[in-house]
Amino acid sequence: MNTCHIKYCGKDKNGIDRYWCLTHKDIASDTEGNQLKECLCNYKEIYDNKIKIEPQNIDSIKVTYKNVLEEIKPNIYLNQKEENHALEIKDSILDFKDIGGLMISKLNGIKLIPSYCSYCGKPHTDDGIFAYTPHAKHLCQYCGYFYNVEKANIGNEFALFFDVPDITLEEGIVEIEDTLCLEYDILKGTLLTNGKNVNKVKAKGKIIYLKTYLNELFKDEY
Ligand SMILES: [Zn+2]
Ligand SMILES: [Zn+2]
Ligand SMILES: [Zn+2]
Repeated sequence: MNTCHIKYCGKDKNGIDRYWCLTHKDIASDTEGNQLKECLCNYKEIYDNKIKIEPQNIDSIKVTYKNVLEEIKPNIYLNQKEENHALEIKDSILDFKDIGGLMISKLNGIKLIPSYCSYCGKPHTDDGIFAYTPHAKHLCQYCGYFYNVEKANIGNEFALFFDVPDITLEEGIVEIEDTLCLEYDILKGTLLTNGKNVNKVKAKGKIIYLKTYLNELFKDEY
């Protein structure tokens, strides 16, 4: 397995040391500032055999989450072929969280604005709560440093290489019991919830917009 490559990133605003893993783009210190042996990335195995892709050769990127109530882990299909690895596109490495971030941004109709880290020069992707909350201080996933932009925005590296439409949902409700399966077609902008294109779900007897429901469910996936 690809081992963590951990480096020190200075102190946060409370004076707590921060460490970052360059291999898996994730934090590598605890809340007290102690360096961890391994970073907190949940999907280290997908970095073992990264799939290098040329955007011009990709006609279809589909993602299926079998049951996000149990596990927020997608199956990725490139040109209809299952490829469950991190994706390498030019200088970008994109993993499961970045795919989830893209889905949440596009569900919220976010215009994705490219920005680049002022330390390492790499492009930026926003995941979890940051995928739908514009912010001017970005945490670079590649080097672990924060950088600022003039106007609060949201980015995702997929949008640098592909034309990613907003997700459009149709009026309708699907009832959620213990399974919530999502099928997202990134290049078409379609999202099926338990097989249906709907904008609302009924969960625990309550009707709620799918967008609101998924924003909450994915908020910590960054
Ligand atoms: Zn790591
Ligand atoms: Zn950086
Ligand atoms: Zn950001």
